[in-house]
Amino acid sequence: MDWTDFGSWAHRIADWTQDYRENVGDLPVRAQSRPGEVLEALPPAPPEAGEPMEDIFADFERVVMPGITHWQHPRFFAYFNANAAAPSVLAEFLVSAIAPNCLIWQTSPAGTEMETRVMDWLRQAIGLPEGFAGVIQDSASTATLAAVLTMRERALDFTGNTKGLFARAPLRVYCSAEVHTSIDRAIWIAGIGAENLVRVPIKGENRGMDPDALRALIAADRAAGLQPAGVILCVGATGVGATDPVAQVMEVAESEGLYTHVDAAWSGSAMICPEFREMWAGVERADSIVFNPHKWLGANFDCSAHFVRAPEDLVRTLAIRPEYLKTHGKDGIINYSEWSVPLGRRFRALKLWFLIRSYGLDGLRTVLRNHVRWARALHDRLAEEPGFEIVTPPMWSLFSFRYVPDGASDLDALNQRLVDAINDDGRIYLTQTRVDGALVIRFQAGSFETTEADVMMALDVIREIAQGLETG
Ligand SMILES: *Cc1c(COP(=O)(O)O)cnc(C)c1O
Repeated sequence: MDWTDFGSWAHRIADWTQDYRENVGDLPVRAQSRPGEVLEALPPAPPEAGEPMEDIFADFERVVMPGITHWQHPRFFAYFNANAAAPSVLAEFLVSAIAPNCLIWQTSPAGTEMETRVMDWLRQAIGLPEGFAGVIQDSASTATLAAVLTMRERALDFTGNTKGLFARAPLRVYCSAEVHTSIDRAIWIAGIGAENLVRVPIKGENRGMDPDALRALIAADRAAGLQPAGVILCVGATGVGATDPVAQVMEVAESEGLYTHVDAAWSGSAMICPEFREMWAGVERADSIVFNPHKWLGANFDCSAHFVRAPEDLVRTLAIRPEYLKTHGKDGIINYSEWSVPLGRRFRALKLWFLIRSYGLDGLRTVLRNHVRWARALHDRLAEEPGFEIVTPPMWSLFSFRYVPDGASDLDALNQRLVDAINDDGRIYLTQTRVDGALVIRFQAGSFETTEADVMMALDVIREIAQGLETG
């Protein structure tokens, strides 16, 4: 195939895409294939001769699609949605066609300058004050790694990269046990060591860290000759949306001179609605904040917004400047690869620009507000439903519940069977998590295509499938 055929194929794929996205709600949400099914359908050896696109596309529909879990399905209520709104899909098409590598300014000035502009739009959209600078990272995990490396270098007067971590007092980083596993991995990779990630006890309905306990742990570490380096907060953690009391934790961190990073990967998108911002009041005092427009905001994966108060610290930690990466004779330029771990960078700003312009902030707010409202309505109905109990209350559009019918013995096993049966049924898709050791079922609404009827259908499906289970 060459470029002369490209247009006709692109049209065909565009039509296929529209049809898929308009009708994806008719398919079972979770892939119903068995392990190995796709692998077995793929030839073990690569073809020696080129094949017609017609055959490749036919196999795509026959082999690949049955092995897809439909993340853009309106009744995808599992994990957190990774939305791909229509305007951002179009932008990604263009990006894949132009295919620039935006590693430094001169390798595509538009990539860099649009990133500066749309990240500042996002800063305003979520209510952060001026003074925060933004960069797009590939994922929240990468943003957190960059933040932890900066935290480490700040604590070591920027000597960690040169001298390593040998023969020094261990660095200590504090977070609750509710945080995402990306924090653990950042601590491993940064050489701080899992044993120096200190878990601060939580309290209250929001399952946030106890600031007094944090202060006491820091004092004990200092007394033991260890070196506190930073605090990692969560706002809307993955399990059940645990949220730290940001202002109180900032108070402690500031008085101790510690670097702070806030992981709001999922909930950060909700902050485009002023009424949801009180949950992270005090965030303007953080050193580093991450949220994923590729989750709830509608920009297709990957697109993670990382805001820092002192980009010079991040750049001092990560920048490396061999001759071939120097841009001579141009002042005032930004090279975003100096703000992140990977060198190569996709042109990710374009999809944000398409998305934000096409929906407008008001359009996006309406989508998110509906999700929160409908999830709360479902929560209220389930709370009334005999045999069910709410385990954690709605945090934005996420809550958890448990099936507790009279006379049931092993509730963890029963709830796991319920989730599995629901997902085998295919009308909706849910996932489980653990709360204080107990297996619970999560519900979150966050698909751009979901309607109130889709959310309410979840109640019928959950009730119907629960009633069909043996509970003894
Ligand atoms: C999804 C999520 C992450 C991980 O995001 P990636 O972009 O996949 O690395 C981290 N923290 C929280 C709270 C999340 O919800």
